[in-house]
Amino acid sequence: MSAANDVVEVADDLHDELAQAQAELDRHPTASANGLCVACRTPGPCAAREAAAAVFVRYGLLPHRLAGATRPELVRARIVAR
Ligand SMILES: [Zn+2]
Repeated sequence: MSAANDVVEVADDLHDELAQAQAELDRHPTASANGLCVACRTPGPCAAREAAAAVFVRYGLLPHRLAGATRPELVRARIVAR
């Protein structure tokens, strides 16, 4: 296998790892209303969320945020027109 193939393989692995970590973050938001993980129902951030966030920290990257994932409407937060 060539060095170029090795680089592509590492990039693919990194891409998969980040995609998996992002999916975990999206599944485990901490609800604004009660501070519990939406999936685990434990005080957030839950262990799954912490582990997924650590992946992004390791590579010095920021995850994407999923709008509305923390259910802000439950604490009557709303979008204010700019
Ligand atoms: Zn969770």
